[in-house]
Order: sequence, then structure tokens, then C-alpha cells
Amino acid sequence: MYENDSDSIIEVKSSLMNEKYINHNMKNFIENKASYFLKNSRNLPNLELEKFILWKIDRNRVFISMDLNCPAQCKFCYVDSLIAKRNKLSSIKLAKILCETVKNDKRFTQGKQGTTIMLSPFTDPFHENNIEASLEIINFFSTLKNFIDIATRFPLLKIDSLSPFSENILINFSLSSLQDNIEINNQYLRFKNAKKLISKGYNVTLYLRPIIQDITIHDIDKIIDLAKDSGIKVITIGGLYVDEKILHKLSSINIDISKYTKIKKKFVLDDKEILEKIKANDLEVIYKKLQNSGFNVFYSSDQRIEYYKSKLI
Ligand code: SF4
Repeated sequence: MYENDSDSIIEVKSSLMNEKYINHNMKNFIENKASYFLKNSRNLPNLELEKFILWKIDRNRVFISMDLNCPAQCKFCYVDSLIAKRNKLSSIKLAKILCETVKNDKRFTQGKQGTTIMLSPFTDPFHENNIEASLEIINFFSTLKNFIDIATRFPLLKIDSLSPFSENILINFSLSSLQDNIEINNQYLRFKNAKKLISKGYNVTLYLRPIIQDITIHDIDKIIDLAKDSGIKVITIGGLYVDEKILHKLSSINIDISKYTKIKKKFVLDDKEILEKIKANDLEVIYKKLQNSGFNVFYSSDQRIEYYKSKLI
């Protein structure tokens, strides 16, 4: 299944996660010296410290990112606020290392009700830069039957390369608005792609996140129509987390949300508590509207995952 370095990769045990962090040029590590470092495991960088891997044991999840940078640069995105160091690393080799590192970690449980694989908090898994690495990770854990929750703003153009084990793969198309100046200009393609994936038997939901107060609500009727037409039945909604950087980026596209109340609410990926949540009254209104339109609506990815995992035999 793996290339030449597979034996070396398999030797990488979970103890490596605790190795002393070595500040190294990771791009060179991945692209030029992978074999060397894999055979000399003490030199591996700490993938957890770097945030390529984030364990949330209390929720039985592991977040995996194949890069720590997202080329899409959405104005509301938290990646630049939470990641100090920017890397451009996405590669098949890194994907294989991430897979084996997680699989060999003692915190990992294999199987349908085992560890949920979350892709990917710090880059978009279906962006063209990441798609090969993402498919490697999805297909790896799909074979182990683990549940895989994917959040993306890009259509999956290589559907035929996706694992045929569709029941444990959940693709969530994220969306905040239908406006081009707010979203990446592929909003309608996401719905078209959702329709295609659903017709092939994959689980697809809409992830209305972040809901931007006074913005998302303007498009909600049209979004409901598009979701229904594509066959989506489940929608998760989520609020907007900000810091000064995000507020500034949003104001550059004439969205001023600094006037709204910010509340302290822990964001699962924000261990340093940099971000605050905007109190958005629209969230409730949208929730009710979606529910009245016949969707199964969740307030969090936890609820969504629990719902889908409970259906797995
Ligand atoms: S696509 Fe997702 S990860 Fe990438 S910039 Fe936009 S919100 Fe951030």
C-alpha cells in the first residue's frame, strides 16, 4: 500500500509525539530528507507542537492538518490568528507520516466507533494544494473504518479517487454567504458538488459557519433552496470567532462587526484563548428557519458527529 519508506514510517511510534521539539526547516524535512528523518526518528519534529495533529481525547477526536496555512485567505478565517508559523508543506509524504503517527498513537482507537478523524482545522482539505494529501489521509482512515469528518469550502473534483467506503465519510460544505466579496467565488459549485456526492452515496451536509451577524441572514432563503435542491438534509450552524486581526480583515470588505458584543467562549482549537465569539442574534433566527424548512439542524460538530456515528452499525 505504501511506497519505499513504508517500513520506516511504521516504526514511528507514538512516543515520538513526546520527543523534544527540534526547530527545523520542515519544508526540507518533508520534501528532501524524509527518509533520513524517518530512519532517525529522534530528529522528527513534534507534530503536535506544530499543530499538524491535535488530540481532543475528551471528545474522542483527532484533528489533522496537512498544512498550517490556507491559500483561500477568507477574511473571517481564524487560521492566521492561531498559527504563528506559516508552512507550505502539503505532500503525500507528510500525509503518510501523519496517518502512521496517529494510527500508532496509544490514544487512537480503530473502528467505526473509535477515534473521529477531523480534517482539517488549519487549511482547506479540498483546496488544490491539499487534495492529494487529503485523499491519502481519508482513504487511509476509511480503510480502518474510522469516522472521518471533513469541512471544506472547495468542491471535490476527484470524486473517483475517494474511498468507496462512503458510510464513515462525512463531507461538510462550509458557507457564510452567497456574496462573492465574502466567500471564495465557488459557492454554487459547492452545492453542485454536494448533489453529485450525495448521488454517489456519500454523506454531505451544509456547515453554515461562521454565521456573520446581518450578513448570512440576507441569503438564507436562497441557501435553503440550494441545499434542498442538492439533497442536503443536515445543517450545522456556528458563530464567528474574532480577534483584532479578523475584525480588521472584515472591515476591509466593509463588514463592521466591532459594534457587536463579544463573549468569552472557548473555541476548541484555540488553546491560548486568543479569540472571542460574536454574540449573533441571527443564529437563533436562522436555526428556527432551517428547522421549519425541514432540515435536521445542529449547533455543533459534536452533535452532528454523534448523529452520524450513531447510525453506523
Ligand atoms: S477555506 Fe477555510 S481554512 Fe481556508 S481561509 Fe477559508 S475559512 Fe480559512
